[in-house]
Amino acid sequence: MIFSKLRRKTKKKQEPISLFTTNRKEKVLLEPLKPGVVTIYSCGPTVYDFPHIGNYRPYVISDILVRTLTNAGYGVTHAINITDVGHLVGDGDEGEDKMELGAQKRGKTVPQIALEVEECFKRELKELNIITDKTLFPKATEHIKEQIAFIETLEQKGYTYKISDGIYFDTARFPEYGRLGNRDIEQQQEGARVEVNPEKHSGADFALWKFSPEGETRQQEWDSPWGKGFPGWHIECSAMATKHLGKTIDIHTGGVDHIATHHNNEIAQSEVVTGKQFVRNWLHVEHISIEGNKISKSVGNTVYLRNLIERDISPLSFRYWLLSGHYRTRMNFTWEAVKGAHTALFKIHKYFTEHLLKVQSDTEDATYTKAIRDALRDDLDTPKAIALIWEIIKDDKLTPGKKKATLLVADSLLGLDMQGRDSLFNQKNNVKISVNSLPSDIQDIIQKRDTARKNHEWEVSDTLRDELTKKGYTVIDTKEGTTVEISSQNPQHEEGR
Ligand code: AMP
Ligand code: ZN
Repeated sequence: MIFSKLRRKTKKKQEPISLFTTNRKEKVLLEPLKPGVVTIYSCGPTVYDFPHIGNYRPYVISDILVRTLTNAGYGVTHAINITDVGHLVGDGDEGEDKMELGAQKRGKTVPQIALEVEECFKRELKELNIITDKTLFPKATEHIKEQIAFIETLEQKGYTYKISDGIYFDTARFPEYGRLGNRDIEQQQEGARVEVNPEKHSGADFALWKFSPEGETRQQEWDSPWGKGFPGWHIECSAMATKHLGKTIDIHTGGVDHIATHHNNEIAQSEVVTGKQFVRNWLHVEHISIEGNKISKSVGNTVYLRNLIERDISPLSFRYWLLSGHYRTRMNFTWEAVKGAHTALFKIHKYFTEHLLKVQSDTEDATYTKAIRDALRDDLDTPKAIALIWEIIKDDKLTPGKKKATLLVADSLLGLDMQGRDSLFNQKNNVKISVNSLPSDIQDIIQKRDTARKNHEWEVSDTLRDELTKKGYTVIDTKEGTTVEISSQNPQHEEGR
């Protein structure tokens, strides 16, 4: 009797969610393999260089996905991998390893650059208010054994062949190869542009294990049944996803650039090894361009999150801008657009701080919260959810207590940090003060932090920033140099006014 009551209490019904999947090419109702629990794998960054603003779009979207699923009553296991070996320049199997190249360029070792970029990535995920407490971050170099085991199984099943520079996957043995996103068409176009290794049996075949070039010392190489070398890029995702999430994953996310090659390769390897469907739902996020151009180091138009902060634009404002477009739509980043987003978000924070922060929260308005949750459960319609936030703010019929409760539900889904530590309005209420007029011990810490930042020692710089925050100072890194804001709790606040 007691048990059945308990079971009834804990057995929560999940609400339906529909997503547009690349494999089905339509919106489908999410049916997790294990009812009530959703596994998500997101292709992570290659940590050879600091991520640009475009790289963050897929992770802001996977964050919205996780928040929406959790709100709808599902348990979620989410993994974002860290690629720290094997991603060659271009999607092909020629060219140098991005990691070795990135390290050379900076005069550092591969582990040094990998760690710096990984730390920057994780810090910036937090700055974008992406929830990461429960996220798994498996690293390719920590899963070499699993990748070798994967390749051995492929070999035993007869899906590999050896040529002078490595072990390759034989796509001709997997008739369904290329089914994701009409790879065939893509392949024909690709064939016209890219020079194919003449030893490969087919242009689509891809490296599973690359041999270390003879007479060359690589920073990253491991012993394997095929000799010294390193894994090809694609195999890491198959091996790590299977290890951490199981043979079949509910949702796999990534940018649209990964569909043609990387994700088709992941499918082929995984399905041959496990004999099971690898991914039930493929979700791909469109790219952003900058001022109408593809983001590219050679064009020199790359923008980093730091560059936004330098112009006094908060990462949260960039998040707001991203959410104002639907994830399947290409977006064009312009400084005007992101400044517009910053102004809009500032108004939301200002309204919340001035009118609702001190109000006692009531029950939420059921119609609005349903509308927001419905919008997100309908293929993550963030533009609609943002429009609803404005409707709530403008609705005079709602009492302040109801308004507050309703906006907080919306915020838990969209992550705009309306009442949190990073409220834009609270920041504006602080007092700016020049570094020279600060106590000498504070100036010392700021100087140490500036040096750490110059040397890209982000961890040191973060620790020093935390130290300053504890003492009541907020450091703002601007184009003109470091300035400091003093919070209202700091005794020097009144002096600064
Ligand atoms: P990478 O470090 O190159 O593997 O990229 C990390 C993530 O960023 C991948 O999911 C890519 O698909 C994605 N990505 C790369 N460029 C852009 C862009 N311009 N807009 C949106 N996403 C991008
Ligand atoms: Zn991947």
